Amino acid sequence: MTAHTLPVGTNMPALVYEAPRVMTMRDVPIPLPRPDEVLIEVEYSGICGSELSGFLGQSSIRQPPLVFGHEISGRIAALGDDVDDSWQAHVGDPVTANPLVSCGRCDFCARGRQQLCPRRLLLGATLPGGNARYVAVPVASVLAVPEGMDLATAAMVEPVAFALRAVEVSTVTPASSVLVVGAGAIGLLILQVLAASGVRTRYVVETNPDRLARAVALGCIPLERGERGLPSMIDEVTGGRGVDVAIDAVGAPSTRRECMLSLTPGGTMVLVGLHSDETELPLNTVVRSELVIRGAFAYSPVHFRQGLAWLAEGIVGLKAGVVVARLDEGQKWYEQLVSGHPASKVLLQPALQAS
Ligand SMILES: [Zn+2]
Ligand SMILES: [Zn+2]
Repeated sequence: MTAHTLPVGTNMPALVYEAPRVMTMRDVPIPLPRPDEVLIEVEYSGICGSELSGFLGQSSIRQPPLVFGHEISGRIAALGDDVDDSWQAHVGDPVTANPLVSCGRCDFCARGRQQLCPRRLLLGATLPGGNARYVAVPVASVLAVPEGMDLATAAMVEPVAFALRAVEVSTVTPASSVLVVGAGAIGLLILQVLAASGVRTRYVVETNPDRLARAVALGCIPLERGERGLPSMIDEVTGGRGVDVAIDAVGAPSTRRECMLSLTPGGTMVLVGLHSDETELPLNTVVRSELVIRGAFAYSPVHFRQGLAWLAEGIVGLKAGVVVARLDEGQKWYEQLVSGHPASKVLLQPALQAS
């Protein structure tokens, strides 16, 4: 580490996942950045829907003790020994970071599909994350925050990158009719990316009224499941045709099924949500109707950069329903989100002190 850095062995406060539904504030050693890393002083660390199953103890990759948090922004606090000027990373710079760290050597990395790298690691899951005063990140994963962008917005690049990838695999065109099930952060951002891609017909299904209202404010057409279920509602509004693309941003067996049954023959279902692993689906329908089922997972560095640029331009972004909370309130917020709190994003702010 270079000069003016933190004495080795100094501690920092961190929110540590200790056991299912248990996160406690603890003093842990400040991470020492490796030669190719920078140390970031975290300003915001967003809670992601994908972390909730981990909080409940239902994730294979998030094992205690662990510091969660992969949606981060902050300022560079120290540089690893090999981080020279050519990296254009300086102490004090406002930054965000791509939390998906890949090997850079495998076939998938070479083809720009780093999200499939078999050696990939994720901050807040297989690496210590941003729910702490400091986090160490490879300098290659760090992106400068564009001028004029606040650090709260900069913490939201990751879900935007996810949404960009989901819309990319859906192969929509402006003429497509698209159904999005679930208007949490990812669903809402997918709806925004669809709008920015020129898709005019955007249906949304969301049971929470606050979340639904945010989607409607974006010009989406709200649908209710009603007594007969979503596929027959889709039948009604599309004249019996079905939608070209259905994107499931929930991942429950019921939402996957209704997405599939809402498709027009030849249509595409994109699976984004990871709520349940197993789902029973009528696969003869896939055969007879030549349906396409695609998964969309995470993002590559290309999506991350595009996400940052689109956020900077105001093309996408979460504003309504964003909550900023102290880090020591984190456990409470994970609990609240598990019980269905309608926040579009909860940003934990380690610098916020109890008053
Ligand atoms: Zn996330
Ligand atoms: Zn790789």
